[in-house]
Amino acid sequence: MKERIEQIRAALAANEAALIESGANRFYLTGFESSAGHVLVTARGAYFIIDFRYVEKARATVKTAEVLLQENTEEQIGCLLAQDGATCLYVEADSTPLSRFAALQKALPGITLCDGDKIDRALVDARAVKTREELESIKAAQKMTDETFTYILDRITPGRTEREVMLDMEFYMRRLGSEGVSFDFIVVSGKNSSLPHGVPTDKKIERGDFVTMDFGAVVNGYHSDMTRTVAVGAVSEEQKRVYDTVYAAQAAALAFIRPGVACNEVDRVARDLIYGAGYEGCFGHGLGHSVGVEIHEMPACNTRCQEILRPGIIMTVEPGIYLENQFGVRIEDMVYLTETGAENLTHSERKLLIV
Ligand code: ZN
Ligand code: ZN
Repeated sequence: MKERIEQIRAALAANEAALIESGANRFYLTGFESSAGHVLVTARGAYFIIDFRYVEKARATVKTAEVLLQENTEEQIGCLLAQDGATCLYVEADSTPLSRFAALQKALPGITLCDGDKIDRALVDARAVKTREELESIKAAQKMTDETFTYILDRITPGRTEREVMLDMEFYMRRLGSEGVSFDFIVVSGKNSSLPHGVPTDKKIERGDFVTMDFGAVVNGYHSDMTRTVAVGAVSEEQKRVYDTVYAAQAAALAFIRPGVACNEVDRVARDLIYGAGYEGCFGHGLGHSVGVEIHEMPACNTRCQEILRPGIIMTVEPGIYLENQFGVRIEDMVYLTETGAENLTHSERKLLIV
């Protein structure tokens, strides 16, 4: 984990320092989960300033930075910067509120606050490539997700509501040991399934509905993400045609994704297939995103991202077709990019299941 601090330091000149205050990046650099805290990296040192509620545990567990009890945060930061010869301070451009930026500016006269995104870039690059340990945590989270899917299959019955199914899945997954939910689960049925990020309602599931479930577990702070769409009791010709198209688009993208190709090329493989089948305008989101300490990380496979994929990245592949006021289908797997190809971390059935 010490290497993570080194990757930040490598981006800094001798007189520069970085202040990391966002929860995900703080956790990434320290391995410590807390609702508050400040990581300061200078050319000479790394410090984790944390308040009394957490300091005892932090002292016992954090190995990447010197743990300091939070007193007057800005004064402490000022002293550490002076002590280590730093005159420029980078904050996270993506997540630092303007009010925080202004407060730091006022509290640190003589220090130049830098608003470039150098630190954000370094963190995005570091977080994109997963270590063996990170991979194992995500695999464990996905295993719980697959098990939850198997569990819920014969519990998706006409008369149960979307909310009941969602709560059943969540409770089961927590019992398996998940630290929480990866995000608020999506369980949408019938007409609601045309909403890519619909919220579960009290609508009862009916025969002939498609039910789309998008869900995931958390292990050691790392997330999993999977979507499956199943049919209840029966399936129409049109539903089958849409499902087969999404299935084929996902299969093509899964076969194509590998290191060395650009994110938008992977997106295009699935998108061309969906548009070619006559569903242009019905796939209004990107094909996939990276997953890690946050559910949505960079890089992402969409029409815009030209980043070249590297080994160690974990990417979702989740094409969908959404027919307004009718129904929708999405199928989502997570893959781990190896040196030569991609390992699918998702083991649930992808073919259309009629429950
Ligand atoms: Zn998802
Ligand atoms: Zn996703």
